[in-house]
Amino acid sequence: MQASAGGEAICIRKVILMKEKLKSALDTVEDMGASYADARFVSRKVQSLETKNDKVEAFSEDLSQGVGIRVLYKGSWGFAGTNKCDERSIKETAGRALRLARAASRVKVLDVVLSEAPTVMDSYKTPFKIDPFSIPVENKIEILLDCDKIMAQEKQVKVREGSYHAFNEKKEFLSTEGSDIQQDITWCGAGISATATDSKENQIRSYPASFGGDYSARGHEFVDELELDKHAERISKEAVELLKAPQCPREKTTLILGGSQLALQIHESCGHPIELDRVIGMEASFAGTSFLIPDKKGNFQYGSDLVNLYADATQPGGMGTFGYDDEGIPAQKFDIVDEGTFVGYLTSRETSVLFEEKSNGTVRADGWQRMPMIRMTNINLKPDDWKIEELIKDTDKGVMLDTNRSWSIDQQRLNFQFGTEIAYKIEDGSIEGIYKNPTYTGITYDFWRSCDAITDKDDWRMWGIPHCGKGEPMQTMFVGHGCSTARFRDVQIGIAE
Ligand SMILES: [Zn+2]
Repeated sequence: MQASAGGEAICIRKVILMKEKLKSALDTVEDMGASYADARFVSRKVQSLETKNDKVEAFSEDLSQGVGIRVLYKGSWGFAGTNKCDERSIKETAGRALRLARAASRVKVLDVVLSEAPTVMDSYKTPFKIDPFSIPVENKIEILLDCDKIMAQEKQVKVREGSYHAFNEKKEFLSTEGSDIQQDITWCGAGISATATDSKENQIRSYPASFGGDYSARGHEFVDELELDKHAERISKEAVELLKAPQCPREKTTLILGGSQLALQIHESCGHPIELDRVIGMEASFAGTSFLIPDKKGNFQYGSDLVNLYADATQPGGMGTFGYDDEGIPAQKFDIVDEGTFVGYLTSRETSVLFEEKSNGTVRADGWQRMPMIRMTNINLKPDDWKIEELIKDTDKGVMLDTNRSWSIDQQRLNFQFGTEIAYKIEDGSIEGIYKNPTYTGITYDFWRSCDAITDKDDWRMWGIPHCGKGEPMQTMFVGHGCSTARFRDVQIGIAE
């Protein structure tokens, strides 16, 4: 549908009206003694479609709109949100945030101090070719059910699933320091899976990733490029083959991780432990703290010298890509691990003062009703120069694992255990069959120090994770991980699940 000139005028008028309401609420709390305040209007649209065994299993469309206001008073935060967007309700909400900050200031241990931030007046929109909300739902159902038909040709595949999700978020951010930022971000993604069954067990294969597929901050063209139907036959056959495959052996061996699993390895063993609020114990309630204590910054050997990890909120198509974070800080790209050495955290305005630095812009909130906090953006592993065929050829004995099935990591983010859907057995430089129920375990820094090969940029791509959980009440966030394929030596595989 084309937006008419009249429609655009109504839209601009709405933005101006909302801005006036937010500004007036911020002025009020500033007059009442707040040292800082910001307000976010968020309008979030979600479309979810799930298919199962030739039927639509679930379909929903949801629109959530509201305003979240953060107030800093005598060194303490107060936060309140409302889904009523009239002037009076927004002002009352700002007053509530101020009262909460006042109460908190009476029992504070330390003053919240914010690092300097630029005053920004800007707007940002993710580019896309095809608006995913403009594609009729019938077409999306057809894409998934076409795959379902192909997967149904394997008689032992008893459960065939497909999913398609589209998201759009429009945000208006205003602060008492004069920032005024509009953002309009669109994401979408899809995936399919086949579960084969015999009298003893189930085996699943998914494409392009498990737990709903892969996602990107792009339009429907991303889903078209996934070519789900071209992979439906392969995954259904692999699921059936897994039923007959031998169990993954228990041994120490060479492990190659495909991109989809490596993305989750980066997420759990690098992305979470570098969140500075977690490191200093501010946000430890849901998933613990971190072994990467501040003393380690700049001198801890996190990985081998091949390992270069960086945060990049500017990466086109990344699920953690944006123009500005929810504190109005511009999206940034910076090093986390430089040639194996741990060099940087994800920070906020409040935590960056610890290192007498400015925030590197990683603060986001799950909708209007939550207080923003440090979240991963896109945490990526730089490619090296191996070709995937050369990497396999260079491996005498080992396994290549891909597509996550289970994960577990301790509260310090040190001792992890992952299960994947499939293992490819490598012998004398070639793939010689598959194993079922593969698992591997390790200690974060031992594992990354054992990395001795990474494939090149042709094998590198972004992976989107739309369900990263943090905080209580839990906030779900979209994050991205760019990586290729990597090899690790002497890794324990075949642990019991
Ligand atoms: Zn997570």
